[in-house]
Amino acid sequence: MAHAAARAPRSPALTQAEAAAEALRRGQLVILPTETVYGLAADAGNAEAVARLFEAKGRPRFNPLIAHVADMGAAERLTVFDSRARALAAAFWPGPLTLVAPLREGAGVCDLARAGLNTVAVRVPAHGLAGEVLRAFGGALVAPSANRSGRPSPTTVEDAREETGSAAAVVLDGGPCLVGLESTVVAALDGKLRLLRPGAVTRAEVEAAGGALLEGKADAKRSPGRLALHYAPDAPVRLNAEGPGPGEAFLAFGPAPQGPRVWSLSPGRDLREAAANLFALLRTADRTRPRAIAVAPVPDEGLGEAINDRLRRAAGWVG
Ligand code: AMP
Ligand code: MG
Repeated sequence: MAHAAARAPRSPALTQAEAAAEALRRGQLVILPTETVYGLAADAGNAEAVARLFEAKGRPRFNPLIAHVADMGAAERLTVFDSRARALAAAFWPGPLTLVAPLREGAGVCDLARAGLNTVAVRVPAHGLAGEVLRAFGGALVAPSANRSGRPSPTTVEDAREETGSAAAVVLDGGPCLVGLESTVVAALDGKLRLLRPGAVTRAEVEAAGGALLEGKADAKRSPGRLALHYAPDAPVRLNAEGPGPGEAFLAFGPAPQGPRVWSLSPGRDLREAAANLFALLRTADRTRPRAIAVAPVPDEGLGEAINDRLRRAAGWVG
């Protein structure tokens, strides 16, 4: 007796995570949602794919990328963690903290992805779909923000598609990014911790879990990707503004004043909400083609340190 299933042995439909993993294995690029921002992902071990990624972003080659992995075990196959790095990973992974540590011999992260450094930046993202892709792929993915180099990071799939969608074989929609700001980058080298980039995990949170950070300010020189003009919309950005000047758009912090082209990063002055809205509102304001985007002062405490870092770079201040 013929059985329907025996007659037509069809391969079960691939889940979107499996389809993405297959594309990545072939050296193609994938738009990948994470909790921080949308990334443009490539196989970290495939130099040709990573070269294609740099090309799609128009990114300077000397900028090393973050290797994204599924879990702590996968991270330790790439790097050599000391006890402080392990404490930070235990406290914040999966989540928006990146650790820079010595490269383990034989780790599958190509030279180009590390910009030739003998260290590697690694994190475990906290997004269900990113986790599924990483487990289906089974290795490390580099996934810098899916914007063209120097532009604001995409925090929705539409923005990611607009920036680099044409370079991606698969575009995954994971909804709007809950954090909206890039990861905090901490180097754990020579038994010391240094803040290389302020981000979604605050300085105080890092110090509470891992002990004192060595430098007072984010250590830009050691983090070669930290260019002065970055995260920038087309319109100039004017910081610490009381309100909009003629022809300007305005991003308030707190209740927004009346007027056209006026938005608030957070009506209730909540830094977490402001971080989540920052890049999307810079883009929204920019689309109105204003003479400039004026931005109200944001307090420099907690998450405000990372928000102000991104705003200064959007305005082209030297970091
Ligand atoms: P992005 O991919 O845009 O989130 O940027 C990655 C950040 O991590 C940049 O600021 C890089 O300079 C930094 N980074 C990545 N790898 C290293 C490394 N091995 N040493 C120091 N900084 C790194
Ligand atoms: Mg970026």
